[in-house]
Amino acid sequence: MDKQEIITKLQSYGLRLGSSGNLGGRRGGAGPSDHRAVTVEGTTVMVPIHTGTARQSPYVAEAEGHQLALIEDPSKPVATIDFPAQPRFYQLTTADGVPYWKIALLHGRDVLATTVQQTCKRYRDPATACQFCAIEQSLQEGRTLARKTPDQLAEVAEAAVRLDGVSHMVMTTGTPPTLDRGAAYLADCARAVKARVNLPIQAQCEPPADFQWFEQMRRAGVDSLGMHLEVVEPEVRAQIMPGKAEVTLSDYFEAFKAAVEVFGWGQVSSYLLVGLGDSVNTLVEISARLIDLGVYPFLVPFVPISGTPLAGHPAPSPELMQAVYRPVAALLGQTGMTAAAMQAGCAKCGACSALSLFEQSS
Ligand code: SF4
Repeated sequence: MDKQEIITKLQSYGLRLGSSGNLGGRRGGAGPSDHRAVTVEGTTVMVPIHTGTARQSPYVAEAEGHQLALIEDPSKPVATIDFPAQPRFYQLTTADGVPYWKIALLHGRDVLATTVQQTCKRYRDPATACQFCAIEQSLQEGRTLARKTPDQLAEVAEAAVRLDGVSHMVMTTGTPPTLDRGAAYLADCARAVKARVNLPIQAQCEPPADFQWFEQMRRAGVDSLGMHLEVVEPEVRAQIMPGKAEVTLSDYFEAFKAAVEVFGWGQVSSYLLVGLGDSVNTLVEISARLIDLGVYPFLVPFVPISGTPLAGHPAPSPELMQAVYRPVAALLGQTGMTAAAMQAGCAKCGACSALSLFEQSS
């Protein structure tokens, strides 16, 4: 099995921690999360570990001497793996006593990730909430702050660059009940970080009502932008994200066009969650439309998160993932658009997807 195949399977099936795997001191992250960063033969990816699917996974991490082996049941070693060490900046606290890990987390290998506002206008009403979303869960469990201040983010970003060598930053936000859809606060946060440390930043939000916010974010120091379609077919949108489905696909495409004019070709991206009902054809067609506009289609396997309405929904099979990765990687290859050329963001990090591995081999 090659690395591309191992990672695709691991992201679909998840990983169990074996009885002999002494992982206590090697687990990164602050508090429980359903994904964990795992380095598979030198490539760091996010893999479901605490999900129902992962508990049934054929893949187990077992200690073998000083190394960890990925074992495919019953006893076939398929790769050497490792868990990235906890970053140094997690040890620090702000002057007013807030641990840095409540402000931003290390994602993948070298990305600082934060949700600048941890509440969303759609989350508390089941009639509008996105079924896959857990945005306020970590807030309720006391693992994060409702709103991170620009100064707090700048302080943590400076430390994460200095102590842990992070090379870009992702700032996402829950959607506030304002027409800028969070763009104004993302701009404030980006401005504060850039004043303190030279770190490429991706902002992520819903399309703002007025596209002048793209220019404002750009001027504030945002280098690339994510606006996430998540799912595409009308019935799937209505079922999976009944509130956000009110923002039509044509609203999104108008926003993509305007955003590419500001951030540049290949510097805007969109999450597409595979496994929630969209067909392979739909996913490939929408990816082709996005690429035509200069937008990177960031295909990721849906991961069922505990405590959400979709906790029991099956993860997509590796075959389904390969069926979308292959043609979309070929389309990317035809245009020369690459994850690596993005200045910042999820597509550049790539840890939640195997698309960039397929991109490299297409
Ligand atoms: S792809 Fe995005 S969400 Fe996933 S680990 Fe990287 S920065 Fe975090």
